[in-house]
Amino acid sequence: MTIQALGYIGLHATSLDDWGGFATGVLGLQLAGRSNSELSFRMDDRKQRLVVARDAADGPAFFGWEVADAAALDGMAARLEVGGIAVHRGDAALCDRRRVRGLIHVADPFGNRVELFHGAATSDEAFRPGRCISGFRTGPLGMGHAVMLVRDIAAGLAFYRDILGFGVSDWIEKPFRGYFMHVNGRHHSFAMLESGGATVFHHFMMELFNLDDVGQGYDIAGEQDGRIATTLGRHANDLMTSFYAKTPGGFMVEYGWGGRVVDPATHQAAVCDAGPSIWGHERLRMTDDQRAEQHAMKRQMAEAGLRAPVQVVEGNFAMAPGECAWWEQAKVALS
Ligand code: FE
Repeated sequence: MTIQALGYIGLHATSLDDWGGFATGVLGLQLAGRSNSELSFRMDDRKQRLVVARDAADGPAFFGWEVADAAALDGMAARLEVGGIAVHRGDAALCDRRRVRGLIHVADPFGNRVELFHGAATSDEAFRPGRCISGFRTGPLGMGHAVMLVRDIAAGLAFYRDILGFGVSDWIEKPFRGYFMHVNGRHHSFAMLESGGATVFHHFMMELFNLDDVGQGYDIAGEQDGRIATTLGRHANDLMTSFYAKTPGGFMVEYGWGGRVVDPATHQAAVCDAGPSIWGHERLRMTDDQRAEQHAMKRQMAEAGLRAPVQVVEGNFAMAPGECAWWEQAKVALS
């Protein structure tokens, strides 16, 4: 697989002030650069991960997908051209703005600007979060994931799976159709949900190191009128515990912890019958009927015994000693 990670995201915004406050005060990003027309944010050692530029409307501006080096970028350019996609080379000025060594850009079937790049610049200065958090889980997993509502998932698969080489992790059929795709161990770096209508940027996700980072963010978001779009809950496929906040751009950001890692070399794609969430994730924007359908699915899966272990990484958990006599006995009886 040639694409390694979701490296950066660019957004158009009608209010830079709103974004500045939200990105630092709620999400905990570091304001790295500010001009009259643009804000850039850090979330780790990279010089920038999120760029927000002033515009007449809110929405996604570009998605940056990382490849290993210049040779890999040339290889992807050739693959895209064979696939009938017009490839544009980014000039030195554009590479400078993105803080990368080289990039190409293309349009996906939905008109999104997709950039492929290599050689992202890192900073000598330590990451200083905008509020007190333990940090974001990035590194080889990239900055998180991006999810689009699209009219036609098949067209998206032809581009993202067949040309760019994304792997399908799983898909859901109910209560809406969705395809979840990986480019590294992160269960999904990109997903498409079928809208039957216009293409809309649904959300992007960032994963925190510590569950309490998410809970404290939930408290902060909860104090802001209309900020919470989806309540705290846990996804059935990537096992992320998260909530969704409405961004100043109208689309959402998922703020999560404990995402599942897959092995791209051996992972087998399969339908996920459980629906999107094991518990929680009340989608406050949906109609009563849609919410009732999701309640019924969650109740049914709960009664069927749907559970999953938490997915931890070194340093964000502590094992408790087994001091509970009845539980120790129960484990022996069950084994
Ligand atoms: Fe998500």
